[in-house]
Amino acid sequence: MPCQKTRPSQFCPPNPVPDISQISNLPELPDIRSVSREELATRLSDWKTPTYRLEQLMAWLYPSRVTTWDEMTNLPRTLREELARNYRLVSPSLVQKQGSADSTQKFLWRLEDGNLIESVLIPANPDLYGERADRHTLCVSTQVGCAYGCRFCASGLDGWRRNLLPHEIVGQVLAVERWHAGQRLTETPAVESVPQTARLINNLVIMGMGEPLANYEHLMVALRALNAPWGGGIGARKITISTSGVAPKIRELADDPLQFRLAISLHGARDEVRNQIMPINRKFPLSVLTEACQYYVEKKGKMITLEYILIADVNDAVGEVVPLAELAQLLHAKVNLIPYNRVEGLSWNRPEEEHCRAFSDALQSQGVPTTLRLEKGHDIEAACGQLRLKSERNGTTSA
Ligand code: SAH
Ligand code: SF4
Repeated sequence: MPCQKTRPSQFCPPNPVPDISQISNLPELPDIRSVSREELATRLSDWKTPTYRLEQLMAWLYPSRVTTWDEMTNLPRTLREELARNYRLVSPSLVQKQGSADSTQKFLWRLEDGNLIESVLIPANPDLYGERADRHTLCVSTQVGCAYGCRFCASGLDGWRRNLLPHEIVGQVLAVERWHAGQRLTETPAVESVPQTARLINNLVIMGMGEPLANYEHLMVALRALNAPWGGGIGARKITISTSGVAPKIRELADDPLQFRLAISLHGARDEVRNQIMPINRKFPLSVLTEACQYYVEKKGKMITLEYILIADVNDAVGEVVPLAELAQLLHAKVNLIPYNRVEGLSWNRPEEEHCRAFSDALQSQGVPTTLRLEKGHDIEAACGQLRLKSERNGTTSA
């Protein structure tokens, strides 16, 4: 085993070139992508490094998406060693990828501690969040499991394990882009001239596993990096955060200067309905949630989206249209209707397509901007948390 500069020994000859992969793998060190740019700038200046090195470092970390210090070829070796002594540089490893007929792709990742998370890549869908047809949307996770326990959702079935760190949120985007760049090279060698740094994801939805607003601090560090021109370059207006209704955090988000979009997982426009399926409604009932949303809309001057899963015989009665329309009008919100995606082991059902259309038409006739999302990825268990749950329960996690 080569001598490590971090553990000098009088019995080892001095080694001027330490093995960076060894010294970079100390678990107690923070990952460099979990550290804010401001903190890194201070660190580099403490090390008497010229300021332009920060830009070079950022370019390696984000647009180039490198996975090792050695790839940062325009940084002096001494700086790379210093970075490796102070930070880690880790990426999630791909356990499984499923692609569906409509080319929605689902990624199951293993984190350093063995936990599994999911991301879903959704190709252009002009209806989804009103974006142009050439967009790629990535849905990312923010926690391992979820503590909120919505009755219909796979993510919360085995409880909450931990919050993701900022680099684990950012890492999903970078890993999918790396995967895509590699795919293009193997599948179509003719595109070799396309730079590896070309960005794929231009629309981000924080709708994977976990409740994003329950991991607010880490989420914000990650989103600032993904949004910044030196980072992921994804416009704030192309980033949608979905919440089951953590009212105080909606207010905090409203006070943040960045213009992220907000989606509320409503799924019931009356407390009686919401209480049945979303335990969070007992803590923040509709009146409290509505006030927080009004505050957000006033502060941001932007439309929010109400997500409404249609679950047979739970919230899909025509009688629910009026309270839903009233709430949407009060909040000047649009509504995304999503027919429920069945989860193995749960008894909830998706209504007939015809019934979903009738519900959608009735809502639209009340003057509410409505989208019926006949969901992509239904065939690959794309609803949040399903692939991970199945893999863990089937013991396919040790691949
Ligand atoms: N915790 C956040 C974000 C993750 S869930 C939230 O609840 O908003 C993302 C979306 O997927 C939510 O709207 C959630 O209600 C929805 N969802 C969960 N399970 C689903 C299922 N089986 N079918 C369809 N949508 C589902
Ligand atoms: Fe958690 Fe969202 Fe699933 Fe509810 S719907 S259990 S908040 S991930």
